[in-house]
Amino acid sequence: MSGLPDDELARRVHLDTLAAQTVYAPSPETLGEGLRSRPAAPPIGLAAAYEFDSLEASETPLAGDEGYAYARYGHPAGRAFERTIAALEGAEDAVATASGMAAIHGVVLALAKQGDVIVLQEDAYGGTAALFRTDFARMGIETLMVDVRDGGQFAAALERRPRLILAETLSNPLARGIDIPGLAQACHAVDARLVVDGTFATPALSRPIDEGADVVLHSATKFLGGHHDLTAGVVCGAAELMGDVRRVSVRTGGRVAPFDAWLALRGVRTLALRMERAQANACELAQRLRAHDGVGAVHHPGWGAMLAFDCGSRERVGAVVRALRICRLTPSLGGVTTTSSHPATSSHRALTADERERLGVGDGLLRISCGIENVEDVWADFVGAFEQAALPQEPEAA
Ligand code: PLP
Repeated sequence: MSGLPDDELARRVHLDTLAAQTVYAPSPETLGEGLRSRPAAPPIGLAAAYEFDSLEASETPLAGDEGYAYARYGHPAGRAFERTIAALEGAEDAVATASGMAAIHGVVLALAKQGDVIVLQEDAYGGTAALFRTDFARMGIETLMVDVRDGGQFAAALERRPRLILAETLSNPLARGIDIPGLAQACHAVDARLVVDGTFATPALSRPIDEGADVVLHSATKFLGGHHDLTAGVVCGAAELMGDVRRVSVRTGGRVAPFDAWLALRGVRTLALRMERAQANACELAQRLRAHDGVGAVHHPGWGAMLAFDCGSRERVGAVVRALRICRLTPSLGGVTTTSSHPATSSHRALTADERERLGVGDGLLRISCGIENVEDVWADFVGAFEQAALPQEPEAA
């Protein structure tokens, strides 16, 4: 806590000094016996820099080893978030970043260098594909876009001796799963690291490190935060590798801000409950959508809170989203509210129309991120929207 340490000093200085310094209020822990207390919620700690009583005291924190000196190096809310997610993922350590993209950027820069080959799951988030194809390509890192579920294609890619493989636990937007133990074994046989983007699943539903992955990362903007009110990311793995990721992240400035870390930590407190309800809603909606005439292919693997379905054409998607009143069009996912998005014009707009078509991300595809509302209200919202969009009506109950 900053400020002038006592009232006596505050009385002696000039007004401009007083205004600049303000007056210190003792933290509850430093109060005398009988007055001591602890805040029932963690402090946010917005300080961008920390004060020291001596040069000696500043040495260790400035070296980045322990303690706090400068928020880009680390801060209490960020560290609490890192330790929490590391524990949830069963990882030795974690590094919190300014966004999911900063997490991907950090781990790739820590692991790969010019001349290296990276394998990227071909139906990964469009923003990830764009980062690999533009910035990493310019740095001389070659990316192979591969269907990691196709054994032959994957084995051929591994012959190129990639530095790392990046795959999503559940793909965006079709929610297709991957065989993490199988991929990990194949990667380790050629000395490559398996990096899993666990954004869609979260540790509440899947713990990739337990299954052999070397690294799991998240866009904490989504289910971990859970309320559409923060932007953050996190990378988890072995302590030594996380040290490298942390140093990259400090040098490139991709660190999480204290308030976002604090909000993420708050969101994580309800993660298990939110995921349980959101997954149950997704299973129910997928089942009802499959039985609904006029809805095309429904993509949901039987677990997870994300699903997608085909409305037939961009015009029909447009009519449906205009009519939806609860499940509103939102170019994100993972909040407590059920939201819809149109991958072709949002998450996957960086791909060409041909690439999208080949991956099954057609113009008529609508992606749904399930929230925690009563599923009957969400279903009624869909049925009403289908009716308004002139899709055939739900069959009468027998
Ligand atoms: N990974 C996945 C699977 C995503 O869906 C996203 C964003 O939608 C990201 C990473 C990037 O996260 P952020 O937007 O927090 O940078």
